[in-house]
Amino acid sequence: MKEEVKKAAKEFLETLKSAENSYVLTGAGVSTPSGIPDFRGKNGLYKAIPVDIFDIDKFFEDPERYYKFHKERFLSFKSAKPNIVHETIARLEEKGLINAVITQNIDGLHQRAGSKNVIELHGSMDNYVCTKCGRVYGSEYVEKVLMEKEIVPKCEKCGGILKPNIVFFGEALPEMALTKAYAIAEEADVSIAVGTSLVVYPAALLPKVTVEHGGKLVIINMGETGLDNIAYKKYNFELTKFFNEVKNLLEAI
Ligand code: ZN
Repeated sequence: MKEEVKKAAKEFLETLKSAENSYVLTGAGVSTPSGIPDFRGKNGLYKAIPVDIFDIDKFFEDPERYYKFHKERFLSFKSAKPNIVHETIARLEEKGLINAVITQNIDGLHQRAGSKNVIELHGSMDNYVCTKCGRVYGSEYVEKVLMEKEIVPKCEKCGGILKPNIVFFGEALPEMALTKAYAIAEEADVSIAVGTSLVVYPAALLPKVTVEHGGKLVIINMGETGLDNIAYKKYNFELTKFFNEVKNLLEAI
């Protein structure tokens, strides 16, 4: 098995080296080794919290309900640390082997690992936005409020309710991030999908765009994905094992 992973990691790097322009697309699988639960997985968050917790109408109906779960479940994202997958992806960018990271994750771990060009399709838990005037707040301010008083954080300026800067169900995806992601997908020679089942829009669409424009799709995921049928290569390994080998090989470059 170890030899198999090593061989695959080597082949993966060869593909990247022969490409001029590649990007990594990441999903929940990349952050589960950091202790961040997947939403829909076997031990997913939706087993512990109501499925409608990220419903935008419900949020405005009862923000206190949302913030109760937020405080219990999501503040711990802040203390999570990047794992070897985030770290190796950051090294790939540093070495010029990839140009961008497009992520469905909202935990900010790619940036913490050192990735520079990160596009967050679903926003980020690292900041909050006033639902009235649009003012952006850092997470420290909100955490302080939530720790000191058990209420809904409000805007200091206008009193509007603050909302995590993530995309709730019923909300549009951030247009700028989406436009950028499509541009990257169109231009790339190689799309590398990591830890995503490639069934949720728009993540499932980006590799398709790359393939339709003549690029290749490489999938690194334990288990089936929605786009296995159009993949140039599929590496069905545990992500931490695979990227550990990639990291070892990178050190020799
Ligand atoms: Zn405001």
